[in-house]
Amino acid sequence: MSGAPVTGQATTTAAGGSPSSPAPAPPEWDAVLFDLDDTLLDLRAAQHAAFDATVRRQWAGAADVAPARMAEATEAFASDAAGHYERYVAGELTFEQQRLARAADALRALGAPEESATPLGALWTADYEEVVRGHWALFPATAEVLAQVRSSGRGVGIVTNNVEAYQRAKADALGLEWVDVLIGSDTAGAPKPDPAPFLAGCARLGAEPGRTLMVGDSLTHDVAGARAAGLVPVWMSPAAPARGAAEDPVWDPERGCWRLRAIGGLRAWLRR
Ligand SMILES: [Mg+2]
Repeated sequence: MSGAPVTGQATTTAAGGSPSSPAPAPPEWDAVLFDLDDTLLDLRAAQHAAFDATVRRQWAGAADVAPARMAEATEAFASDAAGHYERYVAGELTFEQQRLARAADALRALGAPEESATPLGALWTADYEEVVRGHWALFPATAEVLAQVRSSGRGVGIVTNNVEAYQRAKADALGLEWVDVLIGSDTAGAPKPDPAPFLAGCARLGAEPGRTLMVGDSLTHDVAGARAAGLVPVWMSPAAPARGAAEDPVWDPERGCWRLRAIGGLRAWLRR
């Protein structure tokens, strides 16, 4: 669920070139599929807030933890350094089990005594969930850009690696109830980066994969998966270099994908 660079991924691009080729022409596209978490909404920020609130309820000693150490543990929880979420997506853990495993790792990293480092299921399910939902928020300009894409006559869908029902509720809470096509990890028989959810999204939108953008923050799930399925991969990458207007998409020859600093960059491709 992170955007950590990956190596060894396919070197053939959706445009048919290699990563060392010149930048291809901006894509012709009829539809766009978005990842949800950390692409359309700032889930990381919501996770930070919910972790901080819940860990303080779980363990009174948290009040004495240095802020820097708390921040480090919070980031470890949110970034899931141990890969518990991947085990959930793979069907090895339940959603609650992966969350509790991440909380346990973080509590031990904070130095909580063992009797306080066993996450309380009810607390982490009910309280954490209430706080995290209260912090669900779209990134700036997201609602506006999605509306502009829709107004241009292009299809809009979501392909996400959590179960459809949970992600549907999240999208609806964010005002995206009009996005009819939402493919969850349980919708198409396999999660990203398997081609199935990308192709299911295209089919539901009635769009050709080669004329469909896939925008996401994960090189592993979104970029590599979209490329393998024949879509145009666009990496949501706030660290991307600027070119022209600050938000315009840039071609990343090393990774063979387009990079967006922010969703507003899609406007450059709406004007075409
Ligand atoms: Mg994501």
